[in-house]
Amino acid sequence: MGGSANMGKFMRSPILLKKLPLEYVSPSQISTLETCFLQTAFGTAPWYRSHTFVGPKARLGRVCHTLLEKVLKGELDHTDRVEWRTELVKSWDSLVKQEEKAVQSSQLEGHLGPAQRWPGYSMLRARILAIGHELLGHRQSGSVGGGTFRSEVWFSAYGGKLHGRADVVRISPSGVELEDYKTGEVYEQADNLSQIVKPQYLRQLLLYAAMYHDTAGEWPVRAYLVPLTGGKISITIDPAEAEGEAQKALISLSAYNKSIAAAPAMELLASPSAASCRFCAYKAFCEPFWSDASASWEWQSSIALEGVVLSSRLSQIGEFLLEVQAHRGSVVNGVYKISGIRTLNLEVGEYVRLLNLYPNQSGGERELRITDYTEIWRQSAYPQSAEDTLR
Ligand code: SF4
Repeated sequence: MGGSANMGKFMRSPILLKKLPLEYVSPSQISTLETCFLQTAFGTAPWYRSHTFVGPKARLGRVCHTLLEKVLKGELDHTDRVEWRTELVKSWDSLVKQEEKAVQSSQLEGHLGPAQRWPGYSMLRARILAIGHELLGHRQSGSVGGGTFRSEVWFSAYGGKLHGRADVVRISPSGVELEDYKTGEVYEQADNLSQIVKPQYLRQLLLYAAMYHDTAGEWPVRAYLVPLTGGKISITIDPAEAEGEAQKALISLSAYNKSIAAAPAMELLASPSAASCRFCAYKAFCEPFWSDASASWEWQSSIALEGVVLSSRLSQIGEFLLEVQAHRGSVVNGVYKISGIRTLNLEVGEYVRLLNLYPNQSGGERELRITDYTEIWRQSAYPQSAEDTLR
């Protein structure tokens, strides 16, 4: 690019995906499966999965999740109580290092810097160390609150079509209880602006309960969501409701497999909409998204635009100020001023896709800001051939 400025259109990147049927579905996959078949298909392709933007929040979530898994699998059971904290800190540090290394070598995330400055670092570290300590205590005694304690319990239920792993199963005289640890936010805003537990998480608990019943022949009485941010959310298991969720999941799995077998092109599996695309990790690769997205979607944040860089200059505070002519995305077409970028490898005339831009609070309507969560996609980052993606 550069001298021979690309003032044409953003080159369409064909969606190159194998038609891979799903053998089974897990509770965490269900909401994606019901939102957009194309998003599910992207998730089955290693090339696309490894080229998505992960971001600091998800990277810290991954650290917490892996550390929890180590504890629940018994990998620290050989240590004495006095060594637990040291061992947990060692594991945390080594997992964080891996994520920092991945960030340093990532085209999209190189700007994130050391993990200690990622949002939520100190709080998550403190919480996961405390939870790890508590779980090690339960594992060592094999019991909690008078009941038995099992962790990392795998299920293959409904003829192998539903798979999943419950973090904790507790069996007490009053019945079976399940626990599912969540590293991210568990609440969302309802239409009436109240805070509610994410419905997909409640549904996951019901699916775990149905899988437990299908494999053990007994219904759990209760299930808990355990967010790392603190607290514990409890639901009473209604067997009819849980069985209904399992049947709905089986229907979705079968519908997906039939659809990919029949689709003449994978793009036809897409269900673009303001709600389904908002948090999809594959927007950068998804032509149906760019064709359908418009300002009418009213995304106030996480703004997406595709366009051409008209100018760039370094401001007095050491940030680059870009002017980008937007041609497509969740904005009205026009020229936008974009600030917040400290290292710049974009050139005037270059076509880009920018995802997760935020309004510049101190600026005007056409002023946007790049944050730690912004994805900057250059044309050269896209797959150049089918071989790139179908391996
Ligand atoms: S961006 Fe939208 S249409 Fe494309 S895969 Fe994601 S959810 Fe589906």
